[in-house]
Amino acid sequence: MDQRRAVPRTDTVLADPRLSGFQRDRARAVVREELDRVRRGELPAADVAESARRRLSGPGGLRPVLNATGVVLHTNLGRAALPAAAVQAIVAAAGHTDVELDLETGRRARRGRTALRALGEAVPAAQAVHVLNNGAAALLLAATGLAAGKEIVVSRGELVEIGDGFRLPDLLVSTGARLREVGTTNRTSLADYRDAIGPQTGFLLKVHPSNFYQRGFVAAVPVRELAALPAPLVVDIGSGLLDADPLLPDEPDAATVLCDGADLVTASGDKLLGGPQAGLLLGRADLVEALRRHPLARALRVDKLTLAALEATLLAGETPTRRALRAPAARLRRRAEAVHGALGGAVPAEVVDTVAVVGGGGAPDVELPSAALALPPDLAAPLRLGDPPVVGRVEQGRLLLDLRCVPEDDDQAVAAAILRAAGH
Ligand SMILES: *Cc1c(COP(=O)(O)O)cnc(C)c1O
Repeated sequence: MDQRRAVPRTDTVLADPRLSGFQRDRARAVVREELDRVRRGELPAADVAESARRRLSGPGGLRPVLNATGVVLHTNLGRAALPAAAVQAIVAAAGHTDVELDLETGRRARRGRTALRALGEAVPAAQAVHVLNNGAAALLLAATGLAAGKEIVVSRGELVEIGDGFRLPDLLVSTGARLREVGTTNRTSLADYRDAIGPQTGFLLKVHPSNFYQRGFVAAVPVRELAALPAPLVVDIGSGLLDADPLLPDEPDAATVLCDGADLVTASGDKLLGGPQAGLLLGRADLVEALRRHPLARALRVDKLTLAALEATLLAGETPTRRALRAPAARLRRRAEAVHGALGGAVPAEVVDTVAVVGGGGAPDVELPSAALALPPDLAAPLRLGDPPVVGRVEQGRLLLDLRCVPEDDDQAVAAAILRAAGH
């Protein structure tokens, strides 16, 4: 039957007793949007009132989504999914909390000291650590505090755009620092850096090109060699990997970079570390302390909920990000077959081998063999608009629901969502 013929009137839906308790204008707007979905064939007319009720009584925006994209750290889906311990820590810290109070003495205490201690213990090579809003904030503070009015010496091959049109060189220049670009797009030598160092130098910056990789006639200078030059060295590792990970051999980690002689490392909390959005600043005690006391630091200060989640993530060790990165392909295949079985032949579907990726968070050249349900592409929209929304990817005319980033407990929810989206 053509759904569009059966579209009820807005007032008729609003008269439904299930919608009586809600603010009228908001209810009317939501009902209109649900009726538009009926017109597009995305929602059966009979479900309009219930769907509107769910939306009106739901938590609003930021709905939980099942990530079946096969992209472990998907920026549009909020990057890392937090471990359960971090979620509990956020809830516990949501009310009044001792974030800046020593309960023993009753005096003011260092903000977030337990989270900072956990970070310091996770990276013993760092003399001191500081946590800010995000990776960009860490870089901003380093550039402002160490190079405003001076030069940042950086390779032309590392002037990276990080996404949504934001470019690191623009961010650095916005602090009043000048960029002293050295080398070429593909090759930069130690002499290039050495020749650029002078009284104007604030620091040398090495940026990990985290979202692309170069092959062929390329050369970059290792941290160990840069560290021997007579200027402070700041390394933006991006991903927040604290220790070397054999699964991601080309991803720099904080411990190794510091042991190789970097004075400061900046990184994100919500990429490979698997925690909340945060910026990490690790390294020499005098530099970290100077940046922590810089007036701008107050504007980049991190929320108590972030501190709670970061500490819990560091202590938990295991995270959904690590689990998704390490799930064996054979197990993903078995899970996909079980989901396929649960569809009982009601939807044209097939289990296929796929390649998942780490995502905007790093390791652009790493391919993770994975498994997916291949479905008709016209199921993409109803799955996205379902409850819970399931987001896959369309490839070569098929909708792929890759299970690598779906928690195993949610496999049955994926099967149920497919059946609903297909109108069963
Ligand atoms: C992601 C990234 C950033 C920005 O970090 P945010 O936490 O997104 O602000 C900066 N530099 C590199 C190398 C990155 O990979």
